[in-house]
Amino acid sequence: MSDLQITGVRALQILDSRGYPTVKVWLQHSDGVVSAASAPSGVSTGAHEAVELRDGGQEYSGRGVQKAVTNVRSEISDLLTSRRWQSLADLDQAMVGLDGTSARSRLGANATVAVSMAAARAFAAAAGTPLHAWIAQTLGRSGRLPVPHFNVLNGGRHAANPLEFKEFMIAPAGAPSFADGVRWGSDVYHALSRRLRKQGLTTGLGDEGGYAPAMDRPEEALDLIVAAIGDAGYTPGRDGIAIALDPAANSFYAHGTYTVGGRARTSEQMIAYYDKLITDYPIWSLEDPLAEDNEGWPALTAALGNRVQVVGDDLFVTSADRVRDGVRTASATAALIKPNQAGTVSETFDALTAAHEGGFAAMVSHRSGETDDTFVADLAVGSGCGQLKSGAPARGERVAKYNRLLEITDANPDLPYGPLGTQLTDRKLPHRR
Ligand code: PGA
Ligand code: ZN
Repeated sequence: MSDLQITGVRALQILDSRGYPTVKVWLQHSDGVVSAASAPSGVSTGAHEAVELRDGGQEYSGRGVQKAVTNVRSEISDLLTSRRWQSLADLDQAMVGLDGTSARSRLGANATVAVSMAAARAFAAAAGTPLHAWIAQTLGRSGRLPVPHFNVLNGGRHAANPLEFKEFMIAPAGAPSFADGVRWGSDVYHALSRRLRKQGLTTGLGDEGGYAPAMDRPEEALDLIVAAIGDAGYTPGRDGIAIALDPAANSFYAHGTYTVGGRARTSEQMIAYYDKLITDYPIWSLEDPLAEDNEGWPALTAALGNRVQVVGDDLFVTSADRVRDGVRTASATAALIKPNQAGTVSETFDALTAAHEGGFAAMVSHRSGETDDTFVADLAVGSGCGQLKSGAPARGERVAKYNRLLEITDANPDLPYGPLGTQLTDRKLPHRR
């Protein structure tokens, strides 16, 4: 593996897709090449994820990132240019050591993740390989084009509507190729817009580009999506277009009670409710169905885990230790993977490896606050995990990732498309009665 000499470091405060500041980093390395990356930013964050450094004060409602930028320009730059780096793990470890906290709160995870992503690109460039191929090599996996999970209807903290469930996604699992999957997703997205207009509902968008109509019952949203899949000429379900939900239950959970569509439920009652939703609709994946500190996860996984993928996002926060805990306690069947939750790319790799070794599936993910950076597209391919969520098939910062995957598809016609092994194909996905 080629080592890396970093000769220059630049950092800048730029805006993300929500109009809040984020960190962009450029690394100049040995061969005069410049590799850049921008940090994404989430809003429905887990209590245990790596911490973004925000300036506070008046500017940008306290959300400025000048302190994080200054940390890159000073301490991190001094470290990066002080020696040659044998590997990304080596560089990330040194940066984590320099930070000295458990959650990157001193230097800022927004600083460290942008540096780490740019460094991964630098290592790939030094090796003369595309980023996805370098990631596959580093992880010892074979590349695979992911099934895109298009978030077509938004609620929760991503939209101003009363819908508590945050993400309603469509996954073209039955598409013959990634490019066909993109077309299927686009067709359904537009069919959904026509349905909403016909029913006098608004077509305003949430943070991830999905529609955010005024409704509060998940069933209303699911009925509309299933109808739109049909309108566009596709089959709802695993052979066609399956549905994935991210209720992000932290946000509607308080004092042991979940409140959805005006009804309060215990975690046992939520499990029964999800059971009914899974029975009534072609749902294949369920992310953060319960709150991160709720003990009901193993019971939910025991009850539903053979019929749907149970994904831990806020539960695992892309931490290898937390994923291993989840494997040990059978709390889920898959881990969501977001580099900025971990704080560095190497720790993200560790979480992917922990999931793989524990027999968990993995889904790579963007954040609700994004830029035109396409790192997660390459990460999804290189990890071979078979699944990516990057928002609606619309809006520049969302389609940047899907467009990068179209480029990878075009340049690598032999890459397989779709999920690994049993993730989609062997699961019985009941269709709506
Ligand atoms: P976030 O949402 O980026 O706002 O945290 C994404 C998710 O919960 O999956
Ligand atoms: Zn989530």
